[in-house]
Amino acid sequence: MRILITGCSTGIGRAAATTLAARGHEVVATARRKETLEGLDVASRLALDVDDDASVARAVAEAGPLDGLVNNAGRGEGGPVEKVPIEAAKGMMETNLWGAVRMIQAVVPGMRERGHGVVVNVSSVAGVVAPPLGGFYAATKFALEGLSEALKLEAGHFGVRVAIVEPGYFDTGFRGNSHEHGIDQPPYDELHRLWDGADGKLLGGESRPGPQAVADAIADAVEGKDERLRIPVGQDAEMVTSTRAKLDDATFEATMRQALGLDW
Ligand code: NAP
Repeated sequence: MRILITGCSTGIGRAAATTLAARGHEVVATARRKETLEGLDVASRLALDVDDDASVARAVAEAGPLDGLVNNAGRGEGGPVEKVPIEAAKGMMETNLWGAVRMIQAVVPGMRERGHGVVVNVSSVAGVVAPPLGGFYAATKFALEGLSEALKLEAGHFGVRVAIVEPGYFDTGFRGNSHEHGIDQPPYDELHRLWDGADGKLLGGESRPGPQAVADAIADAVEGKDERLRIPVGQDAEMVTSTRAKLDDATFEATMRQALGLDW
């Protein structure tokens, strides 16, 4: 299969490029700064900024007909809902939602005409449950999940599969590439202190794993070995999404507060 992946400079995208290439696929690895792709053993390396219409059009034309698209590029702008500057939140939405939309609108028509293809959208456990201080990030991923559900119903008819990969917390460049707002001073500095310790509890005291499990899940979704629409990855994501599916809002919140020791 010929598969284009966005955001391959680091983290999950880079691991997915390596994994799919090792499984024998023609990978078109892309990144905003093409030089970050040097050393990746893939079929093709292209510059691609998903925020930029012209960059998307150029890269998709250069890539040629694709069997798979992995929308992985993403970033974070964290902080309490009342404090994150709207421009920062809009910028994140531009990458995490509209970037994926640009790619889908550029690539899916060809897949539909050829009668086959697969789109894998990298969401997050925050695409199912919104954590405190992550409201806008969750909003980008909730939006991506809604869009993915609709796309599955629309384009599935023409042979285009859709999968949503929902990682928990993995050790990548993500935190370093993300920005935090309004967490160092009252009234939300205490929540930040409490929450910073709480999310690690879902990993049972283990350190955050590297991105290989997410890359494997993406590759399984691309190949159709995993046919689920939603694919949580990591013990934290599996625990949170399965608990969420079983409980009403109030019981879920009480359960999570207790599990995380969140006293706020
Ligand atoms: P990462 O190492 O920071 O990788 C993010 C990638 O996105 C980088 O290659 C970055 O490229 C790229 N990117 C950002 N803006 C872009 C743009 N406008 N155009 C093209 N590429 C762009 O973090 P990661 O953890 O691997 O994140 C990958 C995806 O997984 C994201 O969608 C993230 O939301 C999701 N995710 C991560 C976790 C986690 O715990 N790590 C959990 C759930 C979901 P540059 O080098 O150019 O900035």
